Amino acid sequence: MILTLDLGTTSVRCLAINKQGHCITLSQLEFTQYFPQPAWVEHDANEIWQKTITVLQTVLEQLPSTPSGIAITNQRETVIAWEKSTGTPLHHGIVWQCRRTAQRISELSENDKALIKQKTGLIPDAYFSASKIEWLYSHCDAVKTAAKHNDLCFGTIDSWILFNLSQNNVFKTDTSNASRTMLVDLETQDYDQELLDLFQINRSWLPDIQQSNALFDYSNEQITQTTLPIHAILGDQQAALFANCGNDTSKIKNTYGTGLFIASSTGNKIIHTKKLLATIGWTINNETTYALEGSIFVGGSAIQWCRDQLNLISTAKESSSLAQEISNNDNVYFVPALTGLGAPHWDSSARGLFIGLTRGTTKAHMIRAVLESLAYQTKDVCSIIAQSIPKTTSLIVDGGASQNEFLMQFQADILGIPVTKSSITEVTAYGVAGVAGITLNLFSETEFRSFFKATKTYTPMFDATQIDVYYSQWIQAVQRSRQWG
Ligand code: ADP
Repeated sequence: MILTLDLGTTSVRCLAINKQGHCITLSQLEFTQYFPQPAWVEHDANEIWQKTITVLQTVLEQLPSTPSGIAITNQRETVIAWEKSTGTPLHHGIVWQCRRTAQRISELSENDKALIKQKTGLIPDAYFSASKIEWLYSHCDAVKTAAKHNDLCFGTIDSWILFNLSQNNVFKTDTSNASRTMLVDLETQDYDQELLDLFQINRSWLPDIQQSNALFDYSNEQITQTTLPIHAILGDQQAALFANCGNDTSKIKNTYGTGLFIASSTGNKIIHTKKLLATIGWTINNETTYALEGSIFVGGSAIQWCRDQLNLISTAKESSSLAQEISNNDNVYFVPALTGLGAPHWDSSARGLFIGLTRGTTKAHMIRAVLESLAYQTKDVCSIIAQSIPKTTSLIVDGGASQNEFLMQFQADILGIPVTKSSITEVTAYGVAGVAGITLNLFSETEFRSFFKATKTYTPMFDATQIDVYYSQWIQAVQRSRQWG
């Protein structure tokens, strides 16, 4: 049995997953989101740690036997600064969503931006850890003092939890998390001195980078009663990719949560594209699998917005039947650029729009347009992935909005490939539990893959002309949403 910590952006969860692939028990706690200024987002590192202990111990108390090991998956890019000697956080964690360093990034020279893209595979953005670390160092006296005393740690959430949970307070991370710092060279899988210099970061402040299935350390027995090996760490999207697709480059995964997180494995090749991120998927037994990734800021949250701000629906679920009331979209489109547009458009000045409204437009048209927009955005990214990795055969989906029947069928129709939803909803946790379980010989990779029985496959129904009619109008709508904010 693998004890899996799934440390998300709004909650921490612990799941016990047995060797037959069943989740025996789960405990979850939400934690506080701090918004000290508009567009700034922070987390309290102590609260995350305390709640992690609580969910971990709650699950441990319910287990019939001792688990074989611990696996950790986590929200990526978020940075915590703490004092090495005492484990005391020196500031609130700066969350991946936080835009406080957007200006700094926009002021980077074109040369530096090109250098970052070429080395890290990432499109320079405040989203990644580097500029958050720089901000903490230059704005926080306690951080400077710790640096002066050689007592400073900057880590992502995996490192923070590992430091606290481990017997020896180890300071480590895995390649998948490290690749999101914007400080790591994809080729060498190590921190790059030029990038460290650019953001004025000292290498000694950062965790050692290990394989994703390394034996990171053992857990502290005061927390887990017995010492347990901590045997896998993966960033959350990489964990979902491992679970849904593994090394199979013919499949693309999409997680329909608050945003949409689309990724595909590219095997041992780093594939650079202009508009998507190249990143490390995982490193297992000294072999690194790379991935192409496109993050879309507004996904399921557009449905939440329709429910909570526009009062068009009272539950997210209702959106499916409402959209199915009409047989086509009557040329009504919605562009969910509520916080600008992410991949592949990367336009922070775009703003949301409904277009094509007439006196005949109903609530059903608006909801349908919102759901369709999730599918078009997915197609925008999948088309670029398909140009780089030909022979894409299916989209594997998970996340809250993948429960939406209308959306899933429309997604298959507009992509022209089947969409498959698996029987397991906790895909992220399963992904990292899989890495740990395979490493500990609890099950083979084939057995692990058999845990994911497809619950439903949506077969595409549109012909090429129909796809073109719908999709070309979407492209027009996106053009009109640009340069508004
Ligand atoms: P996260 O992990 O980002 O919090 P979840 O995977 O829990 O996201 O999914 C929650 C999101 O999915 C919400 O934004 C919600 O509006 C959306 N959602 C949930 N159920 C449905 C549904 N049946 N149809 C459309 N959207 C849905």
